[in-house]
Amino acid sequence: MTSAVVVGGGIAGISAALRLTERGVRVTLLETRKKLGGRATSFDDQRTGLTLDNCQHVVLRCCTNYADLLRRTQVDQHITWHSRQYWIEAGGRTSILAPGSLPAPFHFAGSILRAPMLSLGESLSLGRACLAILRADRARLEHQNFGAYLERLKQPHRLIDRFWSPVIVSACNMSVGTVSAAAAAHVVQDGFLSSRRASDIGVPAVPLVRLYEHVPRLLEQASPGSRILLGKGVGRIAPGRVTASDGEVFTADIVICAVPVERVASLIEPSVAATDPRFAPLANFTHSPILGVHLLFERPIMEIPHAVLVERPTQWLFRKHDDPRTIHAVVSAADEWMPLTEDEIVARVLGDIHACLPASRDLPVLAGRSVKEKRATWAPRPGIESSRPGPLGPDGPRGIILAGDYTDTGWPATMEGAARSGYAAAAAALSEPASAFLNPAGRSSRLSRLAAAW
Ligand SMILES: Cc1cc2nc3c(=O)[nH]c(=O)nc-3n(C[C@H](O)[C@H](O)[C@H](O)COP(=O)(O)OP(=O)(O)OC[C@H]3O[C@@H](n4cnc5c(N)ncnc54)[C@H](O)[C@@H]3O)c2cc1C
Repeated sequence: MTSAVVVGGGIAGISAALRLTERGVRVTLLETRKKLGGRATSFDDQRTGLTLDNCQHVVLRCCTNYADLLRRTQVDQHITWHSRQYWIEAGGRTSILAPGSLPAPFHFAGSILRAPMLSLGESLSLGRACLAILRADRARLEHQNFGAYLERLKQPHRLIDRFWSPVIVSACNMSVGTVSAAAAAHVVQDGFLSSRRASDIGVPAVPLVRLYEHVPRLLEQASPGSRILLGKGVGRIAPGRVTASDGEVFTADIVICAVPVERVASLIEPSVAATDPRFAPLANFTHSPILGVHLLFERPIMEIPHAVLVERPTQWLFRKHDDPRTIHAVVSAADEWMPLTEDEIVARVLGDIHACLPASRDLPVLAGRSVKEKRATWAPRPGIESSRPGPLGPDGPRGIILAGDYTDTGWPATMEGAARSGYAAAAAALSEPASAFLNPAGRSSRLSRLAAAW
C-alpha cells in the first residue's frame, strides 16, 4: 500500500491520515471546508472579531487515544487539566467534587459526602449506584434507557436531577430518560470510577482550530508528497477512486471515508452501498443538538475555571482563558432550544447565570453569540450499537474503509471515539490488528478491578 485518499478533515480523518503517513503511505486528505477539525473547530466571528469555538470541547483523562493524537500533533501543551469540578446551585452555594486520598473507585467518596448540594441519604444512594454500575455488564444494558436503570437502582428523583442528569447529558448529549444505559454506564465506569485521575477534565487553552496547525507539516514530513486540500468537497467515493464535486478524480490504493454518518450514504458509489452490509443500518442513526453561547461581560464574572449549574437547563459554564470576562455556556441535548432566536437564547442562559452567580446580575453584557449545532452528535439510543459499522467491508482494505465517531469504537460521539476510529481505520488499511495502533485504556486501579469483578 503506497497511497491513500482520506475524505474528511475532522479528528477521524486527521488521525487516520497521520498514522498512515507515519507508515510511509502517501496521503491526500480532502476536506470540503476551508479548515480542519470538523465539528471540533473554530470560526472567525465577524460580529465580535474573535476566533470562537463552535462549542467548548473538553476531554477526560481516560481518553487515551485523543491524548495520543494531541501528543503526535505536538499540541498537548495547549490542554489545561483540572481535577476539581465545581457545582453551583441557585443562590450560589458551591459543591466541589474532587479526588480525595482514597483509592479508586472510592476517590470521590469524601467530596460527595461533603457536597452541600446532596443530602447524606442521596450521597449514600449515589455511592451504592456507582458500585452497581461498576459491576454492570454494558452489553446487557444496551437495550434499555439509563432512566429506567436508575429507577431499578432506586435512585431518588432529586439525585437524578441534581447529579445524574448533568453528568450524563453533558457526556452523552441525551437526556437520562432517552440515552442507552450502556452508553451512560461507559461514562461512569471509565470516566469516573476506573482510576483517581480518569475524570480529570482537559480544556483547550487555545481556539480549537489551533490544535490542527501542525498537521499539514507533519503529514508532509512523515511521508513526502502527502497533502491536505481544503475547500475540496467530494461528490462520490468508490474503491480506489474518489471524485471531487468539481470533477477532479483522485485514485489511490486505500480510500478512507471519514465524513459524518449522515453524509456517508450520499457519497458512496451506489453499487457498493447496495452490496456492503455496513451501509443500510446507517439509516438508523439520529442526532442530538448542542448549543454553545459565548458571552462577553463588562468585567470578569467567574473566578473558577468552569462550573456545572445544578438543576438548570444551562449545564456548564467555562471561563475562557484568554479573557476572564468571556464565558462560554453549553446546553447539551438542546432540542427545545433550537427554535429560539439568539436574543431568547441569550436571555435564558443569562437567567441561569444570574440565578447561580448572583453577583453577575448587575454586570452589563457587551456581546452574546449563540451557535446551534443541530447535528452535534449521533444519538446513543438503546439498540444503536448494532448499527455501528466496522472500518472494513466485504472487499477488505481494497474496498471503502470507514472512519468517524459513529463507527464501532465502543465509545459515544466524542473526540476520543473519532481518534480511535481513525487509528482503527489506518490499522485496517495496513491489514494490521487495531490493537497495533490503538492506545490501551488507562489502567483501572486494583481496587476498581476487584470491585467490578465482585
Ligand atoms: C457542539 C459540540 C460539542 C461537542 N463537545 C464535545 C466535547 O466536549 N468532547 C468531545 O469529546 N466531543 C465533543 N463533541 C463531539 C466531537 O466534536 C465529535 O464526536 C468529533 O469531532 C467527530 O469527529 P469526526 O472526524 O468523526 O467527524 P467530523 O468532525 O464531523 O468530521 C468530518 C469531516 O468531513 C467533512 N466532510 C463532510 N462531507 C464532506 C465531503 N463531501 N467532502 C469532503 N469532506 C467532507 C466535514 O466538513 C468534516 O470536517 C462535540 C460536538 C459538537 C458539535
